[in-house]
Amino acid sequence: MNFFDKMQELTGVCLNEVQQKAVRYAKGPLLLLASPGSGKTTTLNMKIGYLLLVKKVPAHKILAITFSKASAVDMAARFDQFFSTILKDRVHFSTIHSIAFQIVREYFSMHHQNFEIIEGNSNRDFDKKTILRNIFIQNRNTIPSEDEMDELFSYSSFVKNKMIPDEELVQKKMMMPGLVEMYKQYEAYKVQNPGLVLLDFDDMLSYCYKALYEDAYLRNKYQQRFEYILTDESQDNSVIQHEIIYLLASPQFNICVVADDDQSIFMWRGADVRKLLDFKKIYPNAKTVTMAQNYRSTPEIVDTANEFIKRNRNRYPKKMFTENASGESIEIRNVKRYDLQLNYVVEEIQKADNPCEVAILYRNNNSAILLVNKFFEEGIPFYMKDVELKFFHHWIVDDILNIMRLSYNDSRVDILEKVYPKINAYIKKNQILQLQKHLSKESAFDRLQEMIHAPYQEQVLKRVKQTIRKLQMQEPYEAIQTIRQDLGYDKSLQNSAEHLRMNEENLFDILNTLEQIAKELPTLEAFAYRLKEIEQLMRTSKKYKGRNVITLSTLHSAKGLEYDRVYMIDLIEGILPNNEDIKEYEVGNIEEMEEATRLFYVGMTRARHHLELLTYNTRSGAHVKESRFVQNVRKIIAPEENQEPIVKKKNKQPKFRPMQDHAITDEAELNLGMQVEHHLYGTGQITSLLPDSIEIDFESVGSKKFMLDFCLIHGYLKKV
Ligand code: ATP
Ligand code: MG
Repeated sequence: MNFFDKMQELTGVCLNEVQQKAVRYAKGPLLLLASPGSGKTTTLNMKIGYLLLVKKVPAHKILAITFSKASAVDMAARFDQFFSTILKDRVHFSTIHSIAFQIVREYFSMHHQNFEIIEGNSNRDFDKKTILRNIFIQNRNTIPSEDEMDELFSYSSFVKNKMIPDEELVQKKMMMPGLVEMYKQYEAYKVQNPGLVLLDFDDMLSYCYKALYEDAYLRNKYQQRFEYILTDESQDNSVIQHEIIYLLASPQFNICVVADDDQSIFMWRGADVRKLLDFKKIYPNAKTVTMAQNYRSTPEIVDTANEFIKRNRNRYPKKMFTENASGESIEIRNVKRYDLQLNYVVEEIQKADNPCEVAILYRNNNSAILLVNKFFEEGIPFYMKDVELKFFHHWIVDDILNIMRLSYNDSRVDILEKVYPKINAYIKKNQILQLQKHLSKESAFDRLQEMIHAPYQEQVLKRVKQTIRKLQMQEPYEAIQTIRQDLGYDKSLQNSAEHLRMNEENLFDILNTLEQIAKELPTLEAFAYRLKEIEQLMRTSKKYKGRNVITLSTLHSAKGLEYDRVYMIDLIEGILPNNEDIKEYEVGNIEEMEEATRLFYVGMTRARHHLELLTYNTRSGAHVKESRFVQNVRKIIAPEENQEPIVKKKNKQPKFRPMQDHAITDEAELNLGMQVEHHLYGTGQITSLLPDSIEIDFESVGSKKFMLDFCLIHGYLKKV
């Protein structure tokens, strides 16, 4: 039996002719440039199996490179699905960073050079962030904002990944002032100590390239070690990554590069698709294979996505098609308000037969915060692909919590010091310094009164003191309103945005998010606690990996993956595309808009059967506009009809698998006062049982209310 028949028997996947050809093409450079869902990753995995089983290549001679650690894990799992029963040796799926680090370590050891890693789990006093922060302070005499730190980080990463030579580093008008100079100082700082080199993640790539380029011994060693190199999602490899791969693959160039230029979504990180488009120039004798048949999705999704991506001009023309059976049409849901989108998504999850086949995709991590808050309220478990907790430590969140803290104890000069310029009280720095000289239990505002003599400021201080004290009596939503309006926090935020060149909308979005979280909560403590709970829930959501729960992911992290049902949320102008994309587009630079288009396309092509695009008209009271991409899709799917949103379909009656064994699925089994175990919150006592809701007092988290149907259908409760 030949390899492909055997594979079909084993895995149920019968590779088509082109895929088989790509698998068999083992000698020499091969570029597999193909559409989403056309089986690129499948072919790559089969090819590894073919090399091991048919060509008898030892596993350690194969280098399979993936884009991130997470995709290495996903890839290994897919490989195991195919081959775990017939192969003893596992191929190591590795990120380019991990292989680069291995080479760099060896290079430094050979040259007796000490080094220290300053990124990741490194020493906090001496890490990349601290170093860049100090350089910023030295240059600009002020503490950098989060956005400024982000700009420093991305610039240094971009320069390294694009391999931009020093002489081309010039400060441009659009850049943060002093950016190039600060980058140069950072580079110099890392090598200033003769006995020690400091390395961030990007340096691993730069030094690896240098080592392979300069050191013939190392180069030969690794070239011989890796007889075959395969890379998936190569459209997102940066210039330096392509160069490293080239050096490792030479002189035999047994290399298989798998990519889709239409899915290139990391341009901002130095990715360069031109390296793929020039593949034949870089690798003479290269063979290019294209695949257009999509095996993943229904024709409704495939045809629409294929039409949609034609928006972009900078691309290789392709015609994606499918022979899969026809299914549902793509749904566009335009709800009135943002919070209705949340309700809708929750409703949909409750109906899902198989939550692990459902994904909610969004562009920004911030989109997940309110979603998680809602899931928390409803007790819905979820798996989050890339957990980003920056929101909870943003200075605006700190400010609001600090002002709330002051309302309980306004003698705290240490807290007042952090917020005094933002509460419109005309307090000066030297007054704070004076307060700090001797601490007291007395109200800091009363003590300030003693220092000033202007009647006007007396009045102001009195008003601010009263307003802050009043906060603790207010519900958190109202308290935030008071802070924003009466204490003038909004005004101060506007000024900071202008002064620090930060995107005002993003800053106000954080305040609006806080308000939404605060909405249903009774006290300031409950609000502070809820923020902690959401953060904790996100932090620990990894434990649900591989379980039958819904996936939340950014569009970026969803690449390569597939789900039965995909909901793309927050599809409004300002998010996808974002304001930067729009601004650039309006001045004639289409690159960002095209990348946003590709991101949208990646999202659409994750869905097998059901794709839903969600948008709304207002958010926090302000009018927002539906994403132009949604409008494109609407025109594609209903060119003739008027452009009204599609009316919601009737619910179908779903089947569910219970979350836990021996779960209670019948209401009759529940009684008031009974002890039950909830799959998330542990043991608790039923304190209220109504036709549609149940309240449980948990030992761990106190009282919580759930929708009764939901608990029964999903089997969230069992008897203790
Ligand atoms: P992406 O661009 O999103 O990374 P891809 O090109 O890597 O997609 P795969 O993930 O390999 O595509 O395959 C998509 C789906 O199609 C998978 O479910 C896979 O099992 C299936 N598939 C691939 N090739 C075939 C085939 N020849 N016959 C049947 N199913 C196939
Ligand atoms: Mg893939």
